[in-house]
Amino acid sequence: MRPSKRLERIPPYLFAELERKVAAKRATGVDVISLGIGDPDRPTYEPVVAAAQRAVADPATHRYPSNRGRGEFRRAVAAFYARRFGVELDCDHEIIPAIGAKECIFNMNLAFLDPGNVALATDPGYPVYTAGPLLAGAEPHGMALEPERGFIPDLDAIPGDARQRARLMFLNYPNNPTGAVVPDGFFADVIDFARANDILVVHDNAYSETTYDGYRAPSFLAEDGARDVGVELFSLSKGYNMTGWRCAALVGNAEAIETYWRLKTNVDSGLFDAVQLAGAAALAPEVDLLVAAQNAIYARRRDLVCDALRAAGVDVTPPRGTIYVWAPIPARFATAAEYCEHVLEQAAVAISPGGAYGPSGEGYFRISLTTPDDRLVEAVERLRTLGG
Ligand SMILES: *Cc1c(COP(=O)(O)O)cnc(C)c1O
Repeated sequence: MRPSKRLERIPPYLFAELERKVAAKRATGVDVISLGIGDPDRPTYEPVVAAAQRAVADPATHRYPSNRGRGEFRRAVAAFYARRFGVELDCDHEIIPAIGAKECIFNMNLAFLDPGNVALATDPGYPVYTAGPLLAGAEPHGMALEPERGFIPDLDAIPGDARQRARLMFLNYPNNPTGAVVPDGFFADVIDFARANDILVVHDNAYSETTYDGYRAPSFLAEDGARDVGVELFSLSKGYNMTGWRCAALVGNAEAIETYWRLKTNVDSGLFDAVQLAGAAALAPEVDLLVAAQNAIYARRRDLVCDALRAAGVDVTPPRGTIYVWAPIPARFATAAEYCEHVLEQAAVAISPGGAYGPSGEGYFRISLTTPDDRLVEAVERLRTLGG
């Protein structure tokens, strides 16, 4: 049996590799604490679970959903976008459910790229921004995120050839893995660039609700002209502790949404109606308080981790968003993979090497805050003991 050439072009999925190493170590009896994967440890909020229980008990949700999505879900997304971001969306043409942001990101590549085309992707970045174009038979072009520029790409540095061939640009603020938030004016520059080069912008807003210190992340669509050139992904996975449910929405440019819908009618049969109703319940104003309480937990964990890293001599900036701490590796290690291997071997703590998110992530590591407090305290203690 031989896998397709497309599949062979993809490096092994980073987290599968990490899980394998951790499992092998645990099999030898070592108590490994994993700070690798970003998957909220806390349960989905009670009102969301209750709404889902009611919805699952209703036989009306048991049949094929529509790929356009239920009215209740689309109206809830529209009301949320108006209330939270000041963005008015047309429920019929500017909102569609996705089976998680990951599905949508991948399928956007299939919907918009031909061989020879390019997708511009943040480097380091969420792995699907680069695997998606490859699986679609096209090419990713990395846009380096450097600390000197606040982890935003230098649009002027994108070469002419990549500009000409580019059809998509993937952006994500608050940013995984760097934790950076978008500076004023950047989205406006992106819109000008997209117009000039006829590129569809896909802003992945997976962490808009997961922010700290009073920071409120904006929607890309709140920027003038954004809807002419772009769409935004809103995922309930991280902010609402719903990674397992697969619930997201693609919003914005109506033509892009129609094209995505056309592709999806050939690929899947929509998002389970009960999950859509649970998602609608999650976006009700009463749930805001639960999101805020969850963020207070992450903020405390963030401070714990950053204090411990500083004590170990690591130069770390506490993030204002996301569930990640991104920090440079100690100078005596040649690569992030080498450092992470060392930490796993000597401290039995699993962290992610930055290079796995793209070449510009080399020299950094990522710690996820989605571990229960007592285990996180223990992990941080082990890191402190290990030192730089
Ligand atoms: C976790 C994550 C996602 C995944 O979202 P799902 O809705 O669970 O598929 C998407 N984008 C980024 C940047 C993420 O970190």
